[in-house]
Amino acid sequence: MKNIAEKLSSEEYEKNFAEIHPPLTPNSAVSEANRCLYCYDSPCMKACPTHIDISTFIKKISTENLLGSAKTIFNSNWVPLTCAKACPVQELCEGACVFVEKGEKPIEIGKLQRFVIENYFSSDKRQLFKKEKPNGKNVGIIGSGPSGLACAAELSLLGYDVTIYEANKIPGGLSTWGIAPYKLRQADSLKEVEYIKSFGVKINTSTKVGKDISFDELYTKHDAIFIGIGLGEATRLKIPGEELTGVVDALDFIEDVKNEKWDSVNVGKRVAVIGAGNTSIDAVTEAKRLGAEQVYIIYRRGAEDMSAYEFEYELAKNDEVIFHFKTMPKKIIGDKFVEGIECVKVELGNKNENGKREIKTIQNSEFILPVDMVIKAVGQNINNNFINEIVGIKIEKSKVIVDTKTFQTGNKKIFAGGDCINGGKEVVNAAYDGKMAAHGIDEYLKK
Ligand SMILES: Cc1cc2nc3c(=O)[nH]c(=O)nc-3n(C[C@H](O)[C@H](O)[C@H](O)COP(=O)(O)OP(=O)(O)OC[C@H]3O[C@@H](n4cnc5c(N)ncnc54)[C@H](O)[C@@H]3O)c2cc1C
Repeated sequence: MKNIAEKLSSEEYEKNFAEIHPPLTPNSAVSEANRCLYCYDSPCMKACPTHIDISTFIKKISTENLLGSAKTIFNSNWVPLTCAKACPVQELCEGACVFVEKGEKPIEIGKLQRFVIENYFSSDKRQLFKKEKPNGKNVGIIGSGPSGLACAAELSLLGYDVTIYEANKIPGGLSTWGIAPYKLRQADSLKEVEYIKSFGVKINTSTKVGKDISFDELYTKHDAIFIGIGLGEATRLKIPGEELTGVVDALDFIEDVKNEKWDSVNVGKRVAVIGAGNTSIDAVTEAKRLGAEQVYIIYRRGAEDMSAYEFEYELAKNDEVIFHFKTMPKKIIGDKFVEGIECVKVELGNKNENGKREIKTIQNSEFILPVDMVIKAVGQNINNNFINEIVGIKIEKSKVIVDTKTFQTGNKKIFAGGDCINGGKEVVNAAYDGKMAAHGIDEYLKK
């Protein structure tokens, strides 16, 4: 990168990356819990992909039974601290709260869940669950993200000997390496990892299946296998200049930021992020918090087409991000370093068979945006070669195909869940998949 943003002081970095949602105090937690109506049909519980019994855990807060409350939460979800801090609650549990319909503030379910789980993790962590006796069977799990961890926790309590194989040196998947630090710190994700390890789950880190250990070896060694590898590399832009210094993949940039050594991450003075999904918003707001003076989002469709949530759009606008909608990057300009990006304006036509509006470039509408860094955030694909070689596994549109109840793949011994089967959703979906797959595996191995 030619023009690197000026380094901030460590106090400024800490301030910029401070949590956007502060925690509840014990008093405010109890009074918020007392607002809950304990609805007979629990719309919040239905809206939560892991179906946590939300009214019950909240009721237990109001009676100061915090251990019981934690148990209710863990019963449904093995990564509840991550979910409490990073779930798009407005779209899920809180969005379904009856108070919303009445035009009132919904119960702060995310913050209440955080209160309970933080209390549990800072206590002596009395064991809440009884492990079944070892059943002599073992399961190998590929990937230690939320899906792999949830599957491991559930299987371990059912009496299985569980080993997770993790390519990265630090476990936790995108909760450790992806989710923006102002929502979730690495230390939070690692608390969940340690908790699940306390059930007897083994995690072999720095062990990439297909490189450090062959899939065939795992297949022979284990009675069943769960694949929770998430997605891989960012999709290429396929425009000239993509190889210039200063063009980076959003996930590489975000991973550097997640290390929380803020001042060792270089960011341009003027940064363009390509794409308008959740990852793009994280990349652009993190670039701004690192000290970039001007940050842009370039997106070929309109604001109404963005896959980013409304609250993410608001966050980016508050961070003074300039949005170039109906704009496509044509070429990244520079000799060795990025010096600008040539864009062209587009108009949107009728919807095609995929429900997306056709894009037509507008003649002579090209313009150059002077930038020194370009962050690519236009989606990810499965990039694990080993998976293509497994007999019986089917991949369609970059998703592993599974039975929607058992999470079994076309190869009976292999199960899968999380981003690699849904193309990239939320932590809470991966947590659900992992838990359900554990029961699919249990059924399969009990036969
Ligand atoms: C930038 C970003 C921000 C996000 N922010 C949010 C958010 O705020 N809230 C939210 O709910 N969701 C968020 N998500 C989505 C969420 O992180 C994912 O849906 C979730 O982590 C998926 O879990 P997973 O277990 O399927 O995969 P992952 O979390 O991706 O974990 C997969 C693991 O498998 C490992 N692995 C891959 N290949 C191999 C191999 N061959 N051998 C061994 N190990 C392997 C990887 O190293 C990784 O640790 C975000 C995603 C991104 C990319």
